[in-house]
Amino acid sequence: MSKITKSLFGDLEGKSIYRFTLYNNKGNCVSIINYGAIITSWRVQDKDIVAGFGNLKDYINNDAYFGCIAGRYANRIAAGKFRINGNLYELARNNGKNHLHGGNKGFDKVVWDTGSNEMEEQPLSLHYLSKDGEEGYPGNLKVKVEYDYTDDEELIIGYFAETDKATPVNLTSHCYFNLTGDVSKNILDHSLLINADHYTPVNESQIPTGEIKAVGETAFDFKEMTTIAGNNSTMEAGYDHNFVLNKNGDPFSFAASLVAPEDDLQLSVFTTEPGLQLYTGNFLDGHLINRDGKPINQHSALCLETQHFPDSPNQPGFPPCILLPGKKYFSKTVYKISYNGKAAREIQTKEG
Ligand code: BGC
Repeated sequence: MSKITKSLFGDLEGKSIYRFTLYNNKGNCVSIINYGAIITSWRVQDKDIVAGFGNLKDYINNDAYFGCIAGRYANRIAAGKFRINGNLYELARNNGKNHLHGGNKGFDKVVWDTGSNEMEEQPLSLHYLSKDGEEGYPGNLKVKVEYDYTDDEELIIGYFAETDKATPVNLTSHCYFNLTGDVSKNILDHSLLINADHYTPVNESQIPTGEIKAVGETAFDFKEMTTIAGNNSTMEAGYDHNFVLNKNGDPFSFAASLVAPEDDLQLSVFTTEPGLQLYTGNFLDGHLINRDGKPINQHSALCLETQHFPDSPNQPGFPPCILLPGKKYFSKTVYKISYNGKAAREIQTKEG
């Protein structure tokens, strides 16, 4: 079992915010705080492969969901409305006329409970009770997120929830990756493979039209490893789209692989979720400053968000996302690092 260390990261509303660091036997580590259940850092060899900040204030002030768990419903719900059993629910509209990532105060902006145990060993468990009516959602929702970082370089995220009224639930990690460890390098040079033959086209306010369209040989075709920039030639700002993952009957399956331009680090994603939102940091504009003082610009980092499809509560043709009382929500995603080229040689030298 790998170790966890705990240190004070700040205070909010009289509550202590801790930074938990999960180590593996390679000396690499992932840090998580109990504000927003945010991954603040993932150190692999000499690089930090996630963009983020060095202090709590910057996390509280950021408007781009850095490293957080997005919820109660990650991604958009059209016009912030949906019906369950004929009852209309109205949510906070915090993205134009739509609802995004749980509303004005989603799971990214709350203090998660670290529980009574001292958590010296992994997994790290964080809990949050989202009360009936919070941001307009029905039902008291008990949420637990578990983080585990293995010696095989897998960051395993387990998501659990239970409710006392029927409610939509969609939880994801909103980590911004740049496998070079340098946010001044554009992620459009990374290569990407997505295990998806289809995607969900969207309208002008990024709400799915309901269609499940073949990627064909379009800019959405990542069936073979290709640079994002190369594929992106017809897309203006970059990607902010949901891909329909090929499942082939396997509930937990391979979703995507991302490779740094120097070809030395590779990040692979596996999930129980049906979809993957590729978000290439299109709205980042340099006003947020990375922990090393560098501005986080458009395309400085990208998110690979495993989730249900956007606006599922209003889309009868999409996989269902309503959690019922007495049922258990469970979802699992693994982000796994592997080494090529120089990075692999460094590991071999270390291991003798
Ligand atoms: C969404 C973007 C949104 C961003 C906010 C992504 O998950 O797809 O549209 O702007 O989150 O950080």
